Amino acid sequence: MGSKASQTDNGIENLDPIAISEAQFDRAARLVKGLKRGLVDFLKKPKRVNIVNFPVEMDDDSVQSFQGFRVQHNRVFGPSKGGIRYHPDVTMEEVILLAELMTWKCALVNLPFGGAKGGLVCDPKQLSERELRRITRRFTSELFDELGPHQDIPAPDLYTSEQTMAWIFDTYDKLHPGFNNRPVVTGKPIEMGGSYGRYEATGNGCLFATQRFLSKGLIPDYKDVAGMSVAIQGFGDVGAVAAHGFHREGARIVAVSDSKGGIYDEAGLDPAEVEAFKGERGTVVGLADTMTITNEELLELDCDILLPAALGNQIHAGNAANVKARIVVEGANNPTTPAADRILQERKIHVLPDILANAGGVTVSYYEWVQNQINEQWDYDTTTEKMRRKIHEAMDDVFDRWEAFVVGEETPRNSLPDFRTVALVIAIERVAHATLMRGIWP
Ligand code: NAD
Repeated sequence: MGSKASQTDNGIENLDPIAISEAQFDRAARLVKGLKRGLVDFLKKPKRVNIVNFPVEMDDDSVQSFQGFRVQHNRVFGPSKGGIRYHPDVTMEEVILLAELMTWKCALVNLPFGGAKGGLVCDPKQLSERELRRITRRFTSELFDELGPHQDIPAPDLYTSEQTMAWIFDTYDKLHPGFNNRPVVTGKPIEMGGSYGRYEATGNGCLFATQRFLSKGLIPDYKDVAGMSVAIQGFGDVGAVAAHGFHREGARIVAVSDSKGGIYDEAGLDPAEVEAFKGERGTVVGLADTMTITNEELLELDCDILLPAALGNQIHAGNAANVKARIVVEGANNPTTPAADRILQERKIHVLPDILANAGGVTVSYYEWVQNQINEQWDYDTTTEKMRRKIHEAMDDVFDRWEAFVVGEETPRNSLPDFRTVALVIAIERVAHATLMRGIWP
């Protein structure tokens, strides 16, 4: 989590979330031409940061005080959008960083949203369902007029679920009667206006981004994922769905992991078998005929595609030189640090950045919001196909712009930018130009 990262220095680089986001932003902003410095500086900062403190009665009649954050980074294109996470280590700095990431992600995929993020400091594993419900209702009511279908739209994140979203919707609906309030939150249960394809969206999006990237011909011998070997860190919602997708398309899943460790099989794992085993034992570790490896070893495996789908800061200055994959596909948010980005680039390992590779989730969330407004529910194929097109378009935009740098049309003074930087250049430009088109107020 962010707080740990912000306190920790791995001895080689600064892992403070704000420092990381500034480094990434500054690298891209240098390539954004013709924008006033003050505007670029404004885009870096969150529009609004809400900090709320509130008491809740616990099951044992004690009273506990909780602190929550909701950060709205930008609203130039429309309402702000982003998940709410529940975790004992969540910090405001981390939430600010993640809200900013959402702004660039939405802009890159051309969604009519800005970025937001929320966090509540609590340990959900120590709380009963009734306590979680009371905490969620109170947190939502504290944010009363900050949230809204056309203002700020939460979604699930770390340790929040569709049940949490149902409680948020219900609370908001009680406080704002007489309106169609379904679009106030996405990631809802299907029977309450959730979208088919949302659960699978982020993992599927990782696959679609990789397939489109490979079709560009930058990786010799491979125009598609068939026959490629894939190592996936994290076998949760994103990692497991991605494993199924890559496997279905003919890739070999050589390793997967969770918080307890990883498993390796050079011949290829069957994701359905891994899932069934994890369902029974609570971990992937121990599956028959597999070799147990550590999460650190997984990142350094000899494979074609490395897909981090767990935590941030996993590929850093200390291990980037040992990564052997040809492509890193960022299922997780911020899994690669700026120092690691530079090392991977020098080693000609391409990184498909989080704001592109994992944007499938927010894209289908956007479709949930659209469906809720017109009171429709589309099927899985419809939402997945629409999302595939959005991810392909975004990959094309990034690739075309990157090629323009390569052939020198926009040759930067220093080195050739990586895909993260190019994706950020596009996103920053879009938000900056929209800000100017609207006209700086007053
Ligand atoms: P999840 O909780 O379902 O799964 C996380 C997985 O990571 C679990 O298998 C867990 O055991 C594993 N894990 C935890 N600690 C680990 C460690 N130290 N080493 C290795 N594995 C560890 O979460 P998720 O929804 O799959 O999200 C994964 C990542 O993707 C997060 O960074 C999240 O922010 C990001 N993301 C998710 C979505 C989405 O739609 N779910 C969208 C965009 C980005």
